[in-house]
Amino acid sequence: MNAVNPRATLTPAEAAALRARIIAHVARDRFAPPATITALHFIASHLDRAAEAFERYTPGITTNACFTDAAEALSDAREIARLHPDTRFPANFTDYIDAPLTCVALPMLAPLNPVSPALAQQEADLRHRLTHVHEQLSQATSEPATDAWLPSALTFQRDLMRLAAEVRVDNARPCNRPATPTVVEIPTPATPIALRRAHDEHGPTLAYGLSTRRLPCHVSDRGVTHPADRMVSHLGATIATCADHQDAAATAARELIDSLG
Ligand SMILES: [Zn+2]
Repeated sequence: MNAVNPRATLTPAEAAALRARIIAHVARDRFAPPATITALHFIASHLDRAAEAFERYTPGITTNACFTDAAEALSDAREIARLHPDTRFPANFTDYIDAPLTCVALPMLAPLNPVSPALAQQEADLRHRLTHVHEQLSQATSEPATDAWLPSALTFQRDLMRLAAEVRVDNARPCNRPATPTVVEIPTPATPIALRRAHDEHGPTLAYGLSTRRLPCHVSDRGVTHPADRMVSHLGATIATCADHQDAAATAARELIDSLG
């Protein structure tokens, strides 16, 4: 960020360095409680370290070792953001920094699916504005354009993450819950931890295929069973079911979790 003489064109490594510097500045500027401020400052110092590594790169002279150093610093920054969600940096926010080098897609939060129309409108507005900023940012090859658009992208990301927290609380109100939970189909998770991660990513009610047909469906007709071909999980409470009885399984699994308080 050279205010006196902004650069009209940037090499990919220069653009990555500039973006790391800008996001470090955003992190240091963010208003938050003291514990979060500390995390934000750690994120900023890792981003500075990444910027320094990118700045060391001279094509044809230096090796690519600086990119390894930068990747390590960015990974450290992401890890702190993950441990401190109140910093309101999305999980893959360092993609903004890598994008000039790798053309990776810019981060976009998964749909929040709010029940409340007012929150749905807020989400639509924020996504629309963020998409516009991403379009501008993808074409931004100069220092002034990057300076202009990147902080806005992080502001909208922060607002979306705040909204996501609000939606989680609002959607959980019994009056806002649909009679039948919305079931998201996922690939069969290999471990309980994988299932938990899938819930974090895809929502409270999931379905995945069973590799064998040894389990009966949870619904039987006067004691006569038929095979289940899938498992429904509501926040880890699982019920074996067939396709026809999937909605009933989802509702039963949710009731099971509700009964546990
Ligand atoms: Zn069935």
